[in-house]
Amino acid sequence: MEKSKKPGKPDVRDGYSTEAHLIYGRMHDPNWDYSHHLLPPISSSATFRLDSAQRGAQGFTEFAHSSDELKVTSRAPIYIYDRLGEPNKDMLEENLAYAEGGDTAVTYASGMAAISAVLGILTGSGSEIVADKVLYGCTYSLLTNWYPRLKVQTRFVDFSNLAEVKRNITKHTRVLYMESPVNPTLRLTDLKAVAAMTAEINSGRTEETRIYTVVDSTFASPFCQRPISLGIDFVVHSLTKAIGGFGTDIGGVVIGPRWSRDMLMLYRKDYGGVLSAKSAWPVLVQGLPSLAVRMRQMQKTAMTVAEFLMTRPEIGCVRYPGLASFPQAELAHRQMVDYEGNFAPGAMIFFVLKGDNPQASLKCAERFINHVAEHAYCITLAVSLGNIRTLIEHPGSMTHSAIPAEDQIMKGIDPGGIRLAIGLEQPEDVIRDLRHSLDCTH
Ligand SMILES: *Cc1c(COP(=O)(O)O)cnc(C)c1O
Repeated sequence: MEKSKKPGKPDVRDGYSTEAHLIYGRMHDPNWDYSHHLLPPISSSATFRLDSAQRGAQGFTEFAHSSDELKVTSRAPIYIYDRLGEPNKDMLEENLAYAEGGDTAVTYASGMAAISAVLGILTGSGSEIVADKVLYGCTYSLLTNWYPRLKVQTRFVDFSNLAEVKRNITKHTRVLYMESPVNPTLRLTDLKAVAAMTAEINSGRTEETRIYTVVDSTFASPFCQRPISLGIDFVVHSLTKAIGGFGTDIGGVVIGPRWSRDMLMLYRKDYGGVLSAKSAWPVLVQGLPSLAVRMRQMQKTAMTVAEFLMTRPEIGCVRYPGLASFPQAELAHRQMVDYEGNFAPGAMIFFVLKGDNPQASLKCAERFINHVAEHAYCITLAVSLGNIRTLIEHPGSMTHSAIPAEDQIMKGIDPGGIRLAIGLEQPEDVIRDLRHSLDCTH
């Protein structure tokens, strides 16, 4: 990775694949001398011993001054207190920045802490955000319940219509915020087009009035798309999902340009949403190193399951970016690619059970979900995604229930819609459970 290259010293990692880097990282890390361990040991220390008052003073002076060459003189970071930084998180952040192809990454206690941090450093009283009209529920709540108190207003628009996005940009707009694929309908946003439009608008703006683009890429994971390579400024992830992979820990990350690191670190220090070292560790040694192999397996299964769902008469529509019938199939092929350039449509499926009217499809979906919850062996009724176990949920009555039924339909969330997050099982096992519940409830 660019960041770690020292002038005159060839990087031993050059020439290896991205996947090798996700497994090994930097191997011998100047942050921490653990060179005889196969894995970095878990760091479990809230505070750190300092050799002298002078060393303590230097640590405080250097904290969040990574871009200030004059202030930073020590060769390895001086650890002071876990809320400021510690080795497991530093190593994880370096590997996450690499995975997304960004300059720098800063981790947080949760995906929501990461989202509030990136929006926190980019906005202030009087700023406006233009956000997609379909968002993760808590992000929507953050923007509608809390930010108005800080005089930060959000306009919600459909990001598949860039003319509408442009119409809603004012001189106060500081952030364009979107998810792709969106939760739960899997609609995509053309990230390259959003970046190009923003660059054009920014060419007439000063540094202070510049607009930044932020993408929540959790549904794709860094394996399936890298928005920064398409011109997007910031990417956020919930580490709780595919990156963590095993569902043991909650965490989040912001990946962005080098200048943002100090602000993101200061924000984390002062608002306090730090990722615990004990939660950084499984992501560092298990989640990220296995991301590629898990995602490759999961999307293969997702394709077979999506094809099975297409054959069932009870199902009105199946949305999976890998299907030829996906409404934005061309964009999916262009935007969702793995590290080797192969099409990578992800592991999320959305499908709709038919009903004569919205109320009837809602009942159908509930009946089906309850049957799965009671009888399935390889599918679990639970929110979250990117887990090694296949998870199913009913957005209409669960994750998106705060949105009134009529508004759900307007946002494209059919009351009969079911969200399926494929895990590591064989497709036949998942299909067996789905077939059984479809047969029994229709
Ligand atoms: C889960 C999720 C979040 C929030 O992440 P937490 O780790 O639960 O705070 C944000 N965005 C998307 C798309 C998610 O799926």
